[in-house]
Parts: sequence; structure tokens; C-alpha cells
Amino acid sequence: MSNALTGHVAVVTGAGRGGRGIGRGIAVELASAGADVVITARTNIADAEAVAAECAALGVRAMAVVADIVDEASVEALFKTTMESFGRVDILVNNAGITRDTLLLRMSVDQWDSVLDANLKGAFLCSRAASKIMLRQKSGRIVNIASVNGLRGSAGQTNYSASKAGLIGFSRSLAKELASRGITVNVVAPGFIDTQMTDAFEGDAREQLLKMIPLGRFGQSEDVGAAVAFLASNAASYITGQVLTVDGGLTV
Ligand code: NDP
Repeated sequence: MSNALTGHVAVVTGAGRGGRGIGRGIAVELASAGADVVITARTNIADAEAVAAECAALGVRAMAVVADIVDEASVEALFKTTMESFGRVDILVNNAGITRDTLLLRMSVDQWDSVLDANLKGAFLCSRAASKIMLRQKSGRIVNIASVNGLRGSAGQTNYSASKAGLIGFSRSLAKELASRGITVNVVAPGFIDTQMTDAFEGDAREQLLKMIPLGRFGQSEDVGAAVAFLASNAASYITGQVLTVDGGLTV
């Protein structure tokens, strides 16, 4: 375990998919670097608790909290609990996100709203709550998990692409707002990562996608976690408002 983040407290949203989700990879990589971690889930708290146990086994403090990032009161309660338990927030990773894919002509208002709410409003609410604490601390790191589909578009994902492109614009503006206070805001844009979200690509569809990825494989959640841990570390203290793509070369 490196100790680059020892003494730092990280909140990672949406780590409630046990061994499969990107949130787990992020939490484990931050814990491996010595950070204490607060892991959130909306429904799968047992899975989040399993991730917390995995992090605690690395020798850090870890806690799972139920939070709905779309709900203002729930987000405020998450940060209150974190402060009561761990006393500070140094790193926020806005990872929780959903897809509701369909072609625009078939897309319901609910499919549009739910994706924009979870992927964009959730990051707004969590960043606002965390940055209040970080401003008092005069330091902090916010890392937002977007997607390559927010950079280049994807048929059937107008809602998702709009939310992730919006998240990039949000991050650049927030980076400018918070820079003078020692807080950086960056984005990690994953390509295809092996999770429940990408299980839908099977057989020929998966083979076609693999041909488009120069490194010839889907990424693992730890590949995303390693990029987040770097952006959260002192090594990245002069980097803000940037998008780091973790996609095996897909968008090159
Ligand atoms: P998963 O579907 O595996 O996990 C998503 C997590 O977000 C779950 O823990 C879920 O909690 C949580 N979540 C969803 N809505 C809410 C909410 N309103 N409040 C709190 N938590 C919520 O997703 P991935 O791990 O695949 O993706 C993680 C992030 O990475 C997402 O932002 C996604 O868009 C992005 N991404 C993923 C890619 C991939 O290939 N997998 C590629 C590019 C980007 P619960 O289970 O409790 O509902």
C-alpha cells in the first residue's frame, strides 16, 4: 500500500454493486493509497458494506452509508454523517450514475429526467455539500466520473451523453470557482469497463467493440480507480479542469 493519501477522507458515491461496479474499484484504489473511505449506495447497502469491509482490510477506516444523491436532504445527511464519523472530507468522487438507453423518438420524459437527475443533479448536490467543507479546510479534490460518450456522442444515449457532457462543463466551471481555494476539480472519462452496465454487450456485439479498442480489452474498475487516485493525490496538485480518458485508446 502506498501512503500518498494517508490521513485523507474520501466520499465515493455509487459503490453499491459489490465486486462489479466502478465505485468498488475507486474505493479500493483510494484505500490502497491510505485514504479512509465513505462508500454510498442507494439500495444495495449490503454490497456497499462488502466494499467497505474490503477497504477496511487494507488498514483504513471505511463506512457504508445509504444516500440518494438526487435528494437534497439525503445528500446533506451523508456529509453530516461523514463529518461526525471522520471529521473531514478531502476527496469527493461523483461516481453514481445510471443509463436509460433508447432512441430519442421513443424516449419518455421520465427516462430523460431520471438520467439527468442521477448523473448531473446528483453531482451538483454532492459537490455543493462537499465544497462547503473543503472551503473551510482550504483544500480538496473533486473527481467526477463522466464517460467517453459525453465527449463523442452515442446513438440511443442522448440523455446519458447530455448528462456526461454536462458533467464535463460543470467540472470546468467549478474548477475555476474553487481553484483559488486550493480545491481541484477534474473528470475521468471511462470507455467500456467490465460492469453490470456493460454486461448487455454479449457475443458479436462485444467482439465488434473489442475490435475498436486498441488495447484489445474492456477496462477493469481498478483502471478507473487508479486514475482517480492519481487525480486525488499531491502528484496532481497542479491539474484542474481536465478530462482524463481511461478507454484503452478507444477515442484516439
Ligand atoms: P453500476 O450501475 O454498476 O453502479 C452504479 C451505482 O450508482 C450503483 O451503486 C447505484 O446504487 C448508484 N446509484 C444510481 N443512482 C443513484 C442515486 N440516485 N443515488 C445514489 N446512488 C445511485 O455503474 P458502473 O459502476 O458501471 O458506473 C459507475 C459510473 O461510471 C457511472 O457514472 C457511469 O455512468 C460511469 N461509466 C461507466 C462505464 C462502464 O463501462 N461501466 C463507462 C463510462 C462511464 P444502487 O445499486 O444502490 O442503486
